[in-house]
Amino acid sequence: MSDRSHERPMTETELLSSFEDAINYDHIFVSYQAQINHTTGRMVGAEALMRWKHPLYGMQYPTDFIPVLEKNDLIYKADLHVFEMVCKFQKKCMDERVSMIPISVNMSRYDIYNHEYVDAIEEIRRKYDVPVKFLRIEVTESSAIGGMELVSSVLKKLHSYGYLVEMDDFGSGYSSLNILKDLDVDIIKLDMTFMSGDIGGRGGTILSSIVQMAKWLDTPVIAEGVETVEIADYLKSIGCNYIQGYLYCKPQEPDEFIEMISKVKHEPITAALELIKAMDAGKFWNPESMETLIFSNFVGAASIFVYDREDGSVEIIRVNKKYLKEVGAGRSENEIFDSDPWLNHDDKSHKIYESTILRAIESNDEETCENWRTICTKMCGEEKICVRSSIRVIGKGGEKFLIYAMVQNITKEKKQLDAMEEREHLLKQGFEHANVYAWEVDLSTWDMRPCFRCMRDLNVPPVVHNYPEPLIENGLFPPDYADMYRDWMKQLQNGVGELEAVIPLTVGRVPFHVRYTTEFDETGKPLKAYGSATLVVDSDKSDKTEE
Ligand code: C2E
Ligand code: CA
Ligand code: CA
Repeated sequence: MSDRSHERPMTETELLSSFEDAINYDHIFVSYQAQINHTTGRMVGAEALMRWKHPLYGMQYPTDFIPVLEKNDLIYKADLHVFEMVCKFQKKCMDERVSMIPISVNMSRYDIYNHEYVDAIEEIRRKYDVPVKFLRIEVTESSAIGGMELVSSVLKKLHSYGYLVEMDDFGSGYSSLNILKDLDVDIIKLDMTFMSGDIGGRGGTILSSIVQMAKWLDTPVIAEGVETVEIADYLKSIGCNYIQGYLYCKPQEPDEFIEMISKVKHEPITAALELIKAMDAGKFWNPESMETLIFSNFVGAASIFVYDREDGSVEIIRVNKKYLKEVGAGRSENEIFDSDPWLNHDDKSHKIYESTILRAIESNDEETCENWRTICTKMCGEEKICVRSSIRVIGKGGEKFLIYAMVQNITKEKKQLDAMEEREHLLKQGFEHANVYAWEVDLSTWDMRPCFRCMRDLNVPPVVHNYPEPLIENGLFPPDYADMYRDWMKQLQNGVGELEAVIPLTVGRVPFHVRYTTEFDETGKPLKAYGSATLVVDSDKSDKTEE
């Protein structure tokens, strides 16, 4: 057992005088902390964290010694040392055929001011022949304090060599939104301070809007410092699947970590969704932009969701106020984000909606459908609504599609229509049994729809446009009755509720008792006229025409 009685944090002087040895004898080394997809349990990367174990004073912590190194211009050397150790580690994985994962290395904001840093790490990478896709660089949000242009030029240089850049400690303070807009980062790491305290409250709202914004920018998000399943599940519910924290693993020493890499499955950080050219992502997510203002206030009810063609899942990421009013059925925005939208659809309506999405993907145009949904809420219980949706693809990445849906609640109209159809159906059935010829006339379009018997016995087509002219022409109405019949149509259109007379029909001038009843809407406007014709004599032998 080693004697730990001397273990304590070192003073600044001690740190400075031990630094050279620490580099030369690898007292400064690297621990690795995995980044995990909480949904699949697979590893998507790892972060390299600097460790300093002094032979006498024991473990020193980065939060204590890094500020000292930064203050004394030693951080550059320490960071290059870490980078080199990571390259050695990757080289070892390559040589031992351990499957590799990307490892992120921290870049101090003081490295940003050092123009040699990027070329220096690139030289080290080449020395060990590590493919650039297995190395990422973490830049802290606070780097931007030194000026956006400088950071921006460093990112450009890193990108030119092929490094992906992670924005570390995002949301920790320094005008985060502007940074996102102005800096071309590839991955966002959410600051740990979000992960503590009341995550469902205000912090949660900020978190979920950051995740939504990141989606708009097509940027994956990794949440740091996640210690509990509850927080991981919450993050997943708002669309952030990637997690780095004690929940899955603490930083591990290289040997321990290499063992973990060989056991756990890996996957790439998913392809980001790319917006269609016509859309400016920066403006679209920006809460202050005209686009957002228009989305929230001026367009009709609309939602934006991500459809995954691989597993058919749908995830709503944005809805506007009118959407909540139109089809929200009392749900809050968060209730909508948190629930699986497919749960509101039965099989039939799921099929209708999904095939419309697929058509919109195929056609790259707007596609429309109507379907029923059952919405369950704590407040209102179960509610069935019928929704007309117009769907358009506005972005894609791999098998994921970003979709804009305009919706309209058509429940009332649909119910009225269904009731009417039901009534007509019954009516038609009744007529068929009573040996009556029946038809209906739409008083606004002058389309006439006959019953089956009319079609069968009198050769009337399923729809007669410009009624009654074609039937006067073909002699169903004898010429001397034509004007009287046209006058009837006018009367019906003017709101006469009922009409009846005996009229000789067909060239054979067979006398029929013809009756009309009119249907009106709530305002008293005539909609449809239902006509019927019964043989005046021998009505029960009327089907002799059948032969
Ligand atoms: P960071 O880059 O934000 O690193 C994450 C820190 O959170 C690490 O602390 C890590 O051990 C810790 N952490 C990880 N998961 C959890 C968790 O679930 N709960 C809690 N409470 N903490 C967790 P660490 O290693 O002490 O590093 C502290 C900071 O020191 C780092 O913060 C980074 O800013 C800096 N640092 C570490 N390594 C390097 C390096 O190689 N170069 C530079 N320039 N800075 C480094
Ligand atoms: Ca970091
Ligand atoms: Ca961090």
